Amino acid sequence: MSSINQRLNNNLLQLELLEIKSYLPNYLEQVTAGKMSFSEALLALTTKELNYKHQAQVERTITRARFPSVKTLEAFDFTFQPSIKKQEILELKSLAFMDKAENILLVGSPGVGKTHLAIALGREACQQGARVLFINCHELLLRLRKADDKDELDRALNRYARYDLLIIDELGYLPIKHDEANLFFQLINARYERKSTIITSNSALSSWVDIFQNPTVTAAILDRLVHHVHTIRITGKSYRLKTKL
Ligand code: ADP
Ligand code: MG
Repeated sequence: MSSINQRLNNNLLQLELLEIKSYLPNYLEQVTAGKMSFSEALLALTTKELNYKHQAQVERTITRARFPSVKTLEAFDFTFQPSIKKQEILELKSLAFMDKAENILLVGSPGVGKTHLAIALGREACQQGARVLFINCHELLLRLRKADDKDELDRALNRYARYDLLIIDELGYLPIKHDEANLFFQLINARYERKSTIITSNSALSSWVDIFQNPTVTAAILDRLVHHVHTIRITGKSYRLKTKL
């Protein structure tokens, strides 16, 4: 008997069914005692394995998304920020916006929760198995510029265009050079009507022309971005200062 158990454990190990392996003794006991049928036990065990594998997959997706911190919608205090319509955010949580390749712009002064909401929505997308990347705007531009310098722009653009959800954080904290604005346009254009992009910015859209320093490119970027967009303007106080008071 013990050799059968040993071989069974060995098989489960080789098949990487580690959840089943660890729960098996409990279920064997119940089946032997007649408290559960073999099929019921097998169903329970395989369900445990599936849940575990799904959760591990979600965690890998979250790691690859490179979020700078863990933020969730559950942890967001909507009463502190009444300019945000809770219902609108909860609708975004359904991720229907991604099926329609719609974008989200989160605009507001520092500390109002733009990055928090962007990460929280990104995590929801990871839960659903989407490929997500969170990247700071200037890091993104730097990478595109480096790729361009090495004659590898197409490859880089392809890569960033493929993410199901791209979160570009902190657009407009620094001015953007003319050639970078062009690169940014190419990326937005590549994702247009195909994949969703979330952008956080402390600048209203009307001042983006000062950020990109080129009215033609700014118009082209805005044209693509806002064609299908949910704009969340947050006008409240900084949550960072709240905790200091
Ligand atoms: P922003 O990106 O708009 O500058 P953040 O999203 O980084 O601001 O928010 C600053 C800090 O305050 C973060 O730690 C964030 O989790 C927290 N925070 C902001 N708004 C809220 C809120 N309404 N409820 C809970 N935490 C919040
Ligand atoms: Mg931020």
